[in-house]
Amino acid sequence: MSSASPQASAIEMYAEVILPLPLGVTFTYRIPEELAIKPTVGSRVIVPFGAKKLYTAIVCGLTPTPPAEGFQIKDIMETLDPGPILRYPQLKLWEWIADYYLCSLGDVMKAALPAGLKVESETFVEIDPDYSEEGSARLTEGEALVMQTIDHHGRISVAELERRTGLASTAKIVSRLVERKVIMVSEKLVERYRAKKEIFVKLSFEYDDYDAMHDAFASVYNLPKQEQMLIALVDMANKKRQLGLKPEVPRRMLIETTGLSTAIVAALASKGIIEVFKREVSRFGFSGLATGTLPKLTPHQSEALDAIHKGFLSRDVMLLHGVTSSGKTELYIHLIDFVLRKGEQVLYLVPEIALTTQLTKRLQRVFGKKVVIYHSKFSDNERVDIWKKLLHGGEPCVVVGARSAVFLPFAKLGMVIVDEEHESSYKQYDPAPRYNARDTAIVLASMHGAKTLLGSATPSVETFYKAQMGRYGLATLTERYEGATLPDIEVIDMLDEKKRGRTTGSPLSQRLLTLTREAIERKEQAILFHNRRGFAPVVVCKQCAHVPKCQYCDVSLTYHRRQDEMVCHYCGATYKLPHICPSCHEPAIEVYGYGTERLEEIADNAFGDAKILRMDLDTTRNKESYDRIITDFSQRKAQILVGTQMVTKGLDFDGVTLVGVLNADTLINFPDFRSAERAFNMLEQVSGRAGRRDTPGRVVIQTTQPTHPVIELVKEHDYHGFFSRELDERRRYNYPPFTRVINIYLKHRDRAVVSEVSGRYAARLRELFGNRVFGPEEPHVGRVQQLYIRKIMLKVETEASTRKVKEILRQVYEDFMRDRSLRSLVVYYDVDPM
Ligand code: ADP
Ligand code: ZN
Repeated sequence: MSSASPQASAIEMYAEVILPLPLGVTFTYRIPEELAIKPTVGSRVIVPFGAKKLYTAIVCGLTPTPPAEGFQIKDIMETLDPGPILRYPQLKLWEWIADYYLCSLGDVMKAALPAGLKVESETFVEIDPDYSEEGSARLTEGEALVMQTIDHHGRISVAELERRTGLASTAKIVSRLVERKVIMVSEKLVERYRAKKEIFVKLSFEYDDYDAMHDAFASVYNLPKQEQMLIALVDMANKKRQLGLKPEVPRRMLIETTGLSTAIVAALASKGIIEVFKREVSRFGFSGLATGTLPKLTPHQSEALDAIHKGFLSRDVMLLHGVTSSGKTELYIHLIDFVLRKGEQVLYLVPEIALTTQLTKRLQRVFGKKVVIYHSKFSDNERVDIWKKLLHGGEPCVVVGARSAVFLPFAKLGMVIVDEEHESSYKQYDPAPRYNARDTAIVLASMHGAKTLLGSATPSVETFYKAQMGRYGLATLTERYEGATLPDIEVIDMLDEKKRGRTTGSPLSQRLLTLTREAIERKEQAILFHNRRGFAPVVVCKQCAHVPKCQYCDVSLTYHRRQDEMVCHYCGATYKLPHICPSCHEPAIEVYGYGTERLEEIADNAFGDAKILRMDLDTTRNKESYDRIITDFSQRKAQILVGTQMVTKGLDFDGVTLVGVLNADTLINFPDFRSAERAFNMLEQVSGRAGRRDTPGRVVIQTTQPTHPVIELVKEHDYHGFFSRELDERRRYNYPPFTRVINIYLKHRDRAVVSEVSGRYAARLRELFGNRVFGPEEPHVGRVQQLYIRKIMLKVETEASTRKVKEILRQVYEDFMRDRSLRSLVVYYDVDPM
């Protein structure tokens, strides 16, 4: 970073900083002489901004030149850390994101830093529940005052703290206390990850204290159960000791091994022979020893691995196209090992970290503590910990994370692996930065001189096109491991079912009912996939056809039975189900249609004793519930798993031989240029869940469009056929990969305003970009959270200069914003929408 010599820094009196705000510019502050720590590029500083607000800012440049006259320049108040908290080239990556995705550096900073590293006036803090005074360093007077105030108020903002304590340096004190885990940043919306406590048992004497051991056994003489338990404990503790681990055993394990009860444990404890205590265990903490042994690859897998290594000699990005269950993960493990041995780090991106318990265990078995997990459902504290661990140490490790892991301070990044690279969840929709973590990771890797491996059974059209054109290298795995076959796909024509009077008053066709029953009888498992959560998606008055809508969004409401409420799936607003129609005042409100909640109930009735699990947004609000559903299902505690697209993603259940897709129409008919791709991927991925090992799988797809090309191609598992068909369509209609799409959104509270302005906006863009501009159009959902929306689409040639496009867009925006009456108009861009 900054290598300023002492003389040079003496004249570098101004710092350019990034504020965590959606402002398109950076700001200049003076570095006062008396500042204890002189900031460098990448340092965190506290600065005043606006009316009495304080922010943590990041220094992105130093200069001896004062800014232009006419500004009242403010002073930096504090430097927070002794050194920078970013590593080269993180700031470069931030700049690339802001530039490419047309947002501000402040937006990027907000997404990149965990909350604990960017305390500001509006940050809410509370006392860390795990803090205990004993054993902690003494608090200074200021810190004690801040603590008392927080203690008194519970959750409180930094601004409020400052008012109440009268201390000028509150933000700094808060930052320090957050760092020392005395207090924590409140995350009201995030369900916090809590460390799990478990009960452990250990001998209350040293293993080699033979007298004590003798006494212990003497005291259980003639008490066979206690003796049996003591022997088991001595044995288990000894094994752990020999492995160099703490000789303590989870009580649960002791009870499982001996088949005895907790009463026996208590009896031994009351004799003082053993100690029982509670201890925190990290859910991902790995207490075993890593085997370090790599899976032995099949000849095909070895060939693919060689192809990847060879490809990397001449290319920075490789695509691994491997059918579901072909052993892609096994190849990743070999590559990770290769990179770790070179002393470098690996970033392993997954689309949805909460679903990766299985993967984490697989990696930990080989790499042990070298596996680091960066998880959006971890508390902010834990995220700050991981950040600092990487910042201050450059040891080889593999970081498994979802998209925000691209922001971590890697020291020696050697490789990035992007698993399921086609997944749309790599793209952040809201808020800015609307970045695609896959593409950002490729840029990150190239900044580090590292390689990127993209993996998928159904690569995105853009990626596969690049592989075809030779820009990316390509390795393939065409067979499932151990020759397991891809499942047979049966398509059920739901219109035909209806015509034949076969509909059962349920969303399950006769055929799917029968196959599910047969699977259960054979003691196998089934997954029923339906892309709609809630109980009933249609609420309507059967007298006057009135449909209740969300007060804030142009969306009809879904009825959720458990809460007995109607829910807006766009903003989360909830409403009581009216008994009387608000429009015609008749008691005629009815609910129709099926969501996963109702499907669970239907399955429960249809399949007798079979146990049903449901996995959707509503049943997985926290990390624990995910794990429980996945664990229970993989241990076959249930026969049927009902769920939304969550069930399509990277899960590996041995027992599943049947997958039912209830309504493929909703996938195919989505009005957007990616719908065919998304539908194909989702159907192919979900069928990949069927029949992974020795039992062949079967997939049933229910649709009213059985001859739709996407359905026919999925039926044949014909990725290449799909790709070339889709590529033709994209070429014909000028969509990616042949152009780059930038959607421009305009939002306003007033429908008339947004409709008028968007028309003028598009007209102005058309003057500059010609027929590359489409719209404005009212999107599928025309109003969200009180704001009316219009979308203008811009399709630019892939080779066009990003800088020029950006410059023109900025100019147009500024011209419009000069009109004071448009101040509350919101304009933002979505580059490469997914
Ligand atoms: P993918 O990532 O392509 O879906 P996986 O790597 O998860 O495939 O492999 C599917 C299953 O086959 C896993 O249970 C995995 O353990 C097993 N498997 C694949 N290759 C091997 C191998 N070489 N040795 C042992 N098991 C393997
Ligand atoms: Zn709403």
